[in-house]
Amino acid sequence: MTRISPSFADITTMRVGGSIARFVEPRSRVGMIEAVEDADSAHLPLCVIGGGSNLLASDTPFEGVVVRDARRNIDVLDQAAPREGNDLTVHVNATAGTNWDDFVDFCVRMGLQGVEGLSGIPGTVGASVVQNIGAYGQEVGAEVEAVEVWDRLEKKTMTLPAADMGFGYRTSALKKSMYDAPGRPAESFFPTPRFVVLSVTFALKHSAGGRVDFAQLAGALGVDVGAQMETSVIRAAVLSVRARKGMLEDPGRYDTLWMKGTKQSVEAKADAEGSGDGDASTMVSDSSVPDYDRWSCGSFFINPVLSADQAAVLPQEAPRFAIAEAQGGSSVKTSAAWLIDHAGFHKGYPRERNAQAKATLSTKHTLALTNRGAATAADVIALADEVRVGVKRAFGIELVPEPVILH
Ligand SMILES: Cc1cc2nc3c(=O)[nH]c(=O)nc-3n(C[C@H](O)[C@H](O)[C@H](O)COP(=O)(O)OP(=O)(O)OC[C@H]3O[C@@H](n4cnc5c(N)ncnc54)[C@H](O)[C@@H]3O)c2cc1C
Repeated sequence: MTRISPSFADITTMRVGGSIARFVEPRSRVGMIEAVEDADSAHLPLCVIGGGSNLLASDTPFEGVVVRDARRNIDVLDQAAPREGNDLTVHVNATAGTNWDDFVDFCVRMGLQGVEGLSGIPGTVGASVVQNIGAYGQEVGAEVEAVEVWDRLEKKTMTLPAADMGFGYRTSALKKSMYDAPGRPAESFFPTPRFVVLSVTFALKHSAGGRVDFAQLAGALGVDVGAQMETSVIRAAVLSVRARKGMLEDPGRYDTLWMKGTKQSVEAKADAEGSGDGDASTMVSDSSVPDYDRWSCGSFFINPVLSADQAAVLPQEAPRFAIAEAQGGSSVKTSAAWLIDHAGFHKGYPRERNAQAKATLSTKHTLALTNRGAATAADVIALADEVRVGVKRAFGIELVPEPVILH
């Protein structure tokens, strides 16, 4: 079968976006570096893509190079080393192209604690550190030891310790290298950061138990926040809560030509089903029926972080979470979903007045913008703009998109 190039619609979870002039899938570390450097030295637009789950590509053709790391290796670095004293730390390295949930699944099976709350987040290990993925009380940055990168400016590889990664709420030094200001792309290094991730080394704990740190998850498990549970139980609960909110990927995408083979546990599950062996996995639905609530980028807007003055003028009942600033002091995070809902955009919007709408809010989650099967990027952008303007008018707050938007 001839594989020429996919379109962005073929390789993103939103399933929109135009054709790609050149698509490269390197199978080695040096191949990754060469692919990036070839594009940069030819001054071609470059997009390093992982699972395409945080990317909204434009409908117009992309006249550049899209690089997808085909390496999917996980290595336990301390396997042979004796444990020192009571230190239960285990270092695990994963290549950038490794599917994120394959990595979580591996860690939980190995009895390693630290990432179980991040079960079911789509995408790759490489991109996980770009926006410092987080959910249910965990953030990936807290478990990262170091990130091996290719620096596109200095043209050399580097190992960035976690302290140099600038991790914050849905951000990192890598993400910041793409923007002049929140939501405003920089001239250089957009839509891919200055530092291309080659692999990530995690420092996890050897423990089959983890802490339930999030009220919604504790509720689903019937325990108090702070309770200790088996990591495998936490993982299963996270997957089921995410499934109810439409916050898992549509498994059908891994049956397609351009996504097949990029997520190992899909094949493992198919094999297990063939042998009658069941399993808890992210693939919790009938893949023959598209669930359009899953055709999204997940949360489309970041929860706004407000100064004390901005927070003071929010309605009394708006959610407020105090967050500590790295440079001292504190600010207040509110809920983008609450703002959107209370600005009049409810689940499924605008389906109640336009049943044919091609892009709508998810019917399960206000914060996800979804493609109902035939949307274009322009449809999704138009909906995002409508919501952004509506929230600004109602509350004076400017929502910032979470996905990388390729115009
Ligand atoms: C249903 C759904 C639920 C989601 N839930 C969550 C959630 O709970 N929490 C959360 O934080 N996110 C969530 N997301 C967002 C998304 O899964 C994460 O942002 C994820 O890390 C994106 O990974 P990716 O490989 O798909 O990145 P892509 O979309 O492929 O790329 C995103 C950005 O990362 C860059 N990038 C990709 N690979 C590399 C690399 N190797 N080196 C440097 N840059 C790279 C790209 O150039 C681009 O700028 C969700 C998305 C969906 C669709």
